[in-house]
Amino acid sequence: NADMAMYEAKAGGRNNFCFFSRHMTQQANERLLLESQLRAALANGELRLALQPKYSVAARHLTGFEALLRWTDATGRVIPPTRFIPVAEDSGLIVDIGLWVLREACHVAAGWPAAGKPALTIAVNASPRQLAQPGFADEVARALASSGLPAAQLEIEVTENALLEKTGVVQQTLALLKKLGVRLAVDDFGTGYSSLAYLKNFAPDTVKIDRCFVTNLQHRQDNAAIVLAIITLAKSLGMEALAEGVETEEEFAALAALGCDTVQGYLTGKPLPLDEAAALVAAVSHPT
Ligand code: C2E
Ligand code: MG
Ligand code: MG
Ligand code: MG
Repeated sequence: NADMAMYEAKAGGRNNFCFFSRHMTQQANERLLLESQLRAALANGELRLALQPKYSVAARHLTGFEALLRWTDATGRVIPPTRFIPVAEDSGLIVDIGLWVLREACHVAAGWPAAGKPALTIAVNASPRQLAQPGFADEVARALASSGLPAAQLEIEVTENALLEKTGVVQQTLALLKKLGVRLAVDDFGTGYSSLAYLKNFAPDTVKIDRCFVTNLQHRQDNAAIVLAIITLAKSLGMEALAEGVETEEEFAALAALGCDTVQGYLTGKPLPLDEAAALVAAVSHPT
């Protein structure tokens, strides 16, 4: 009966609305909770850096590390960066957290023996929110000055989408960072709104090829074609080509054959706690 069907649809609809609304409120509350926990984590020193080594393909020697955030809360629960970085970005908390990462990374790298030739680099991820801060380049200069780390040993990683930002501030920040002598890298290359015009203007020192193109490279004609194109582009523009997420010897061999300069991945090293990274640096600085 038509009336009955109408009644049910309305009731169902209303229930659905209640369900979605409750669901959304719950999600919003979870984000708010995570945000306040993250704010406390920063204040209480629950954030740590993990350092993932990077290696040259040709000589397989250590070239540096990428600093990656780690958060273990007071109860021992590990919250992955893919979960808390978006919350930090939306809330603006990433500005303070990013500043902590920058200072900590410079401090750690400044303590490494200057034996390597060229010296080991430390890469730090910068979110679009940080780059849009008018004072960001000044903060980088201060972090370098107070740690004593030479600018050429610091690399700032920026995603392609951050480069799309039309605001003058981002462009100005990138220009100021270049003037400081800091290295610039484009992160997760090929997954965002890749624009060759932006790549040309930004002129990074390093192009980081996203893991999605690297996985099973040796069996995937399409991935191999994309990786070759990125490596060729990077090298003809005088940039270093780095492959992310290299997990197997087969992928490594394929990358070597395609002329990739540097690799970073579980094959050559997972992100390490600071003491283990220091031991690795000591081992290459004073080989036995
Ligand atoms: P990303 O900058 O592209 O970092 C690389 C991610 O790939 C890291 O995940 C790393 O642990 C992971 N990875 C490295 N090698 C392999 C591999 O061989 N296999 C696989 N399956 N994964 C590998 P992580 O540490 O979970 O970080 C995820 C993302 O969170 C980063 O991606 C970056 O976008 C963001 N992030 C991490 N730390 C920071 C930070 O200090 N500031 C900002 N703004 N973002 C950060
Ligand atoms: Mg990165
Ligand atoms: Mg990446
Ligand atoms: Mg990534």
